[in-house]
Amino acid sequence: MTATLITNIGELVTNDSEIGDGSRLGILRDAAIVLDGNRVAWVGRATDAPATDTRVDVEGRAVVPGFVDSHTHLVFAGERSAEFAARMAGEPYTGGGIMTTVAATRAASTDELRENTRRLLAEATASGTTTVEIKSGYGLTIADERRLLEVASEFTDETTFLGAHVVPAEYANDRAAYVDLVCGEMLVACAPLARWIDVFCDTGAFDEAETRRVLAAGIAAGLLPRLHGNQLEHGPGVRLAVEFGAASVDHCTYLSSVDIDSLAASTTVATLLPGADFSTRAPYADARRLLDAGVTIALATDCNPGSSYTTSMPLMIALAVREMRLTPAEALFAATTGGAAALRRDDISRLAPGMRADLVVLDAPSYVHLAYRPGAPAVSQTWRGGAKHAL
Ligand SMILES: [Zn+2]
Repeated sequence: MTATLITNIGELVTNDSEIGDGSRLGILRDAAIVLDGNRVAWVGRATDAPATDTRVDVEGRAVVPGFVDSHTHLVFAGERSAEFAARMAGEPYTGGGIMTTVAATRAASTDELRENTRRLLAEATASGTTTVEIKSGYGLTIADERRLLEVASEFTDETTFLGAHVVPAEYANDRAAYVDLVCGEMLVACAPLARWIDVFCDTGAFDEAETRRVLAAGIAAGLLPRLHGNQLEHGPGVRLAVEFGAASVDHCTYLSSVDIDSLAASTTVATLLPGADFSTRAPYADARRLLDAGVTIALATDCNPGSSYTTSMPLMIALAVREMRLTPAEALFAATTGGAAALRRDDISRLAPGMRADLVVLDAPSYVHLAYRPGAPAVSQTWRGGAKHAL
């Protein structure tokens, strides 16, 4: 068979508690893994490994499941470093800069958008991301939102229609007409290219009534709900996400006890975006309180040119450990299995027979180095669907 054996793994994180040391990370030492086609065929002790055609010796390095980045805005043009510098000099973040990116994105050719997305995804792959969700939301016209989703679809199946990102300037005096457009013709044009419907439900973006309309229309068009909520204030985002059965509510920087209790009693994942908190100098989401209440959490980059211009999941893990008081094990679990839950996927994030062969060979003897050596290059090899990516 054309199987590949990856062996001499010093520490293998499987995320399968049935395998290895019995912990939630399912750690196996002196391990090996066999990939057959795009799946994992075998996991066990290196000394017990079956014979295969191809053998890769990773010389004692750690291997972890590929990172699942369940929240990005990768299709855009331009950059906003001046806005970042102004913010770091004391100006508040309002979300208003999104229109700068909308103007640059509308003016860009589809080839330019595709190349920018390809460049950012190559960067993400080099830092160990093997599954990525990509949203529209910088077009805000029927043709441009569709164009963004066409580009996103070339790179991932996890595409999200975010026509309700902000109200574009041309509708500033008639918000209702823009919501009508998003729920009507724009949705009809975009739904065939998207799996998810999303709304930026926050102050300065869309209010509760508008969010309800967009989510309901998206669901009626066959899309699955997810939501941006509670980033800038104690808003209705979490409550609506739970009510609509959303797979995830993302940001969760400002949460009430009621929000946390309702998340704990729901199947909605709280996706935390420490890169956005970092880049907007906002307080970090209270991950410790969420975990202690029994909420499933995910970590994602929110990669976008305004409020979190990073593709690095290792950086998210380091921030979550240092600033959100997660243990390294909790942060890694949130960056892999948490992301899979936020995308309602059960075929990724676990290294066990039958699962998709998405894994990262770290340039370190232990996964703990992801947080212990912040900013250092963390990844030696990224394998997606059983194939090693050239980094
Ligand atoms: Zn976002």
